[in-house]
Amino acid sequence: MADYQIVDHEYDVVVVGAGGSGLRAALGAAQQGLKVACVTKVFPTRSHTVAAQGGISAALGNMGEDSWKWHMYDTVKGSDWLGDQDAIEYLVREAPKAVYELEHWGVPFSRTDEGKIYQRAFGGMTKNYGEGPVQRTCAAADRTGHAILHTLYGQSVRREVEFFIEYFALDLIMQDGKCTGVTAWKLDDGTIHQFRAKLVILATGGYGRAYFSATSAHTCTGDGNAMVLRAGLPLQDMEFVQFHPTGIYGAGCLITEGARGEGGYLTNSEGERFMERYAPSAKDLASRDVVSRSMTMEIREGRGVGPNKDHINLHLDHLDPAVLHERLPGISESAKIFAGVDVTKEPIPVIPTVHYNMGGIPTNYHGEVLTKVGDNADTVVPGLMAVGEAACVSVHGANRLGSNSLTDLVVFGRAAGLRAGEVVDKAAPVPAAPASVTAGHLARLDRFRFANGSQSTARLRNEMQHAMQSDAAVFRTGETLAGGVAKLRDIAARSADIKTTDRGMIWNTDLVEALEYDNLIDQALVTIESAANRKESRGAHAREDFPDRHDDEWMKHTLAWKRPGEDVAIDYRPVHTYTMSSDIEYIKPKARVY
Ligand SMILES: Cc1cc2nc3c(=O)[nH]c(=O)nc-3n(C[C@H](O)[C@H](O)[C@H](O)COP(=O)(O)OP(=O)(O)OC[C@H]3O[C@@H](n4cnc5c(N)ncnc54)[C@H](O)[C@@H]3O)c2cc1C
Repeated sequence: MADYQIVDHEYDVVVVGAGGSGLRAALGAAQQGLKVACVTKVFPTRSHTVAAQGGISAALGNMGEDSWKWHMYDTVKGSDWLGDQDAIEYLVREAPKAVYELEHWGVPFSRTDEGKIYQRAFGGMTKNYGEGPVQRTCAAADRTGHAILHTLYGQSVRREVEFFIEYFALDLIMQDGKCTGVTAWKLDDGTIHQFRAKLVILATGGYGRAYFSATSAHTCTGDGNAMVLRAGLPLQDMEFVQFHPTGIYGAGCLITEGARGEGGYLTNSEGERFMERYAPSAKDLASRDVVSRSMTMEIREGRGVGPNKDHINLHLDHLDPAVLHERLPGISESAKIFAGVDVTKEPIPVIPTVHYNMGGIPTNYHGEVLTKVGDNADTVVPGLMAVGEAACVSVHGANRLGSNSLTDLVVFGRAAGLRAGEVVDKAAPVPAAPASVTAGHLARLDRFRFANGSQSTARLRNEMQHAMQSDAAVFRTGETLAGGVAKLRDIAARSADIKTTDRGMIWNTDLVEALEYDNLIDQALVTIESAANRKESRGAHAREDFPDRHDDEWMKHTLAWKRPGEDVAIDYRPVHTYTMSSDIEYIKPKARVY
C-alpha cells in the first residue's frame, strides 16, 4: 500500500453531502446541540440541488382550497401504490411546516398580490382526490433549488456546522454491522481523513450519470449508494428511474414541469395536442411517467418532429412574455443557449431524459437505514442514516411527482436531525476505527490509482451509459433487459483491467472519475437486474411484455445486494400498507385512470 498521511477527526454526527438534504440534516443535528461535520466533494452551493427549478410542494392553500389529505392521495397514486403510506403521511403533513421554516430562514419565494408564497400547478397535483389541478408547488421563480440551497448553507454556517469542502468520501467504516465513520480523500492536498462518528448521515444524491442523457450534473454518481453496497447492505427499488418528459433535445438540460404548470403544452408533427388523447383529464399535467410514455409512443408511431421525427415540441409561445419573464426566466435563458430558441416566438424541442432515481438506500421516516435480517426487512443499521435522493424512504414509490423531491429533502433532513438528537449520546466516547478497515479502503484507492490495464475509464463509462440508455429505457422488454444485463456484466468484468494515468494525489481528476465510474457500474448492474426481475409494469417501470400492474404478486419493494466480487442478489420488503396516524385511512390500490 502507498504511504498515506492519515488525519483523524471525531464528531457526534458526520453528514456526507451538502445538497438540500445534507444541509438540512446537518443543520438539524446542530440544532440538537451535537458536534456536526459536513463532508462534500463539491462546494455546498454547487451541489445538484442548485439546479432544481420548478418548486417545492406543500398544501398551503394560498391559491385556493387545499389539504394535506389530497396531497397524500396524489403522492400515493403517483407512486403507483409502491410508496410506504406511513412515510407519505409524514411527508405531506410536515411539508407546510418545512416550507414556512424555509421562508423564515430567508428563502426569497415568489409572491402573490397579497404577499403570500406563490404556488403553481404541477403534474399529478390535484384537488379533491383527483378532481382537477391544484396550485400546490411553492416557487422562487424557476430557481427554487438555488434559493433553498443558499439559504440552508447560510443557516448551517450560523449553526456552526463544520464544513470539509472538496473532500471525496471513499467508504463507510463498518464494525460488526454498525457504522462508525467514513474515510475521505482531501482533493487539494492528497491527505486521507478518517471521520470517526457516532452517526453517519449519507446525503450523496442520485446516480443519473449511469445514463448517457440525464438532466443531472456530472457529479451525480450516487457514491453513497455504492458505499452502502460495498458495506454489504441492500439498495431498494432501483428499477424505478424517472424520465422527465422535457429535457432539451440534444443537450439534456431540463425545462421544468412548471412551464406546463404555467400553461405550456406539447404537440406532435401534426400540431396535435396529443396528451388530450392519453390523459383526457390531466392532459399535459399528467404524471411524468405517463407524459414520457405518451411522447415516446408519438415518436415511435412516426409523429415526432424535426428532420428525424425523433422529438416533440413544447409550446410557451402563446403565453404573455411578461409572465415568462417573471415566472420562467431561467428556462427562457436555457432554451436560448441550448436550443437556440426564443420561447416567446417558437416551440422548444424536447425529449424524455433521465431525471430522478426513485430507488436508493432503504430508510424509515426517521432517516434510519434499514436492512433485512431473517424475516425482518425493517431492521435498523446502527449508526447509519440516509436522506434525499440517495435514500428510498419510500415516499415516491414507483414514480415521483414533480416538486415532491425538494419537500422530501427538507422534511426528512429535518427528521434525521431530530432523530440524531434522540439516538446520539453526547457523553459517550466516539468509536475507534480499526486500522484494518481503513487499510481496506486505501487498498481500493490504490487499485485505481495505480491501475495499468488496457481499458480507459472514459471508454468503460461511455459503454455503460449507452447500455443503460438503450436497454433500461422508458419502455423495457425481457429481451432488451437481458441484453443489457449481459452487456453490463461484460463491462463490469472488463473494469478489472481499467487504466488510469495520473498517479498523484493532488487534484487527480483521473482518479476521481475512475472511483465515480466504479460506483456507477455497481448501481447500473443493480438497476438493470432489478428491472429484469420485476415482471409487471408499475410507475416508471414500463414492461412491454408485462403491460399490467400485478398487485397480488408485485406490490413489494425490491431489495438488491451487490457485494464486491459477487453477483447481484435480490429479495423483497413489504410495502407499508398502513398510515402513521388514525387521521387518515390506508389508501387502497386502484386501477390506473389518468
Ligand atoms: C435539473 C433538475 C431540476 C429539478 N427540479 C426540481 C424541482 O423543481 N422540484 C423538486 O422537488 N425536485 C427537483 N429536482 C430533483 C431534486 O433537485 C433532487 O432530487 C435533489 O436536489 C437532490 O438533493 P440531494 O440533497 O439528495 O443531493 P444533491 O443536491 O445532488 O447533493 C449531493 C451532495 O453529495 C455530495 N457528494 C456526493 N458524493 C460524494 C462523495 N463521494 N464525497 C463527498 N461528498 C459527496 C455532493 O458534493 C453534494 O453536496 C430537479 C432535478 C434536476 C436534475
